[in-house]
Amino acid sequence: MQRSGPSLRRLLLATPGNPAFLAGWRRTWARGGGQRSSAPATGPAFRWRSEAGWRRALQMLQELQADGYDASRMDWSWWTENIQSSNSKIDVTCQKCGHRSRGTKLQSLQSGQSPGCFCNGRVRWSSREGHARCLALLRDRFGERYDASRMDWSWWQKNIKNQRSKIDVTCQECGHPSRTTWLTSLQIGQPPGCLCNGGVRWSSREGRARCLELLKDRFGERYDASRMDWSWWQENTDGQRSKIDVTCQECRHRSRGTMLMSLQRGYSPRCLCARRRKAS
Ligand SMILES: [Zn+2]
Ligand SMILES: [Zn+2]
Ligand SMILES: [Zn+2]
Repeated sequence: MQRSGPSLRRLLLATPGNPAFLAGWRRTWARGGGQRSSAPATGPAFRWRSEAGWRRALQMLQELQADGYDASRMDWSWWTENIQSSNSKIDVTCQKCGHRSRGTKLQSLQSGQSPGCFCNGRVRWSSREGHARCLALLRDRFGERYDASRMDWSWWQKNIKNQRSKIDVTCQECGHPSRTTWLTSLQIGQPPGCLCNGGVRWSSREGRARCLELLKDRFGERYDASRMDWSWWQENTDGQRSKIDVTCQECRHRSRGTMLMSLQRGYSPRCLCARRRKAS
């Protein structure tokens, strides 16, 4: 997930003063970034709440995971307000999974522990935080498009174990109940598969069932769809522009011109009694 705040790297580069520190930091980068820098983290003069402590913490985050954490909340004024000692906690957001981590003490960071998030498994998807995160992801990325009401907390406890667990939502546009999307797919920005986005194909059995359901829900028994059995469906349907084949029971007109996408948007099949009207 992209954050609008400055990256840690830019934040470091923008930090005024202390050329010695910056030189050391650049050396660390030149070595590959994985090793501890030579800047002192302890000793009689070292205080976490000092500017040197602030820079040190940002540097350690960078070393743990280059550009992995958005530390833009921890600007200098935040630091002076929130940091007293090695027991104080940092406030960063993982750029990959978007988890805001506020529980890591400076002393843990110093011993090489990354802030907990969904990526390193220290915040579990099965937790309440995981539940909230999933709902937030759906809302932030897709607005009101997917109805997630089945995934209440008791559903979550029963069904979610890790990032390979699957979510259960319904597309509000095509009505498809989508139950095959992993949390890990959602996390990297993939929408739950449905008939609108090609994640579920109209040519599938699910697509056929959805078509019959749409006809029934909107028009009751009005259109006879018996020609569209499974073998007809396989021969004649490949996408949302494919046309259905139904007969109006009232005027007996056989209608073969309506695309699946029109039906999905609420239009009735054309016939003599309903030239082209929207389902009410
Ligand atoms: Zn993460
Ligand atoms: Zn859909
Ligand atoms: Zn008719």
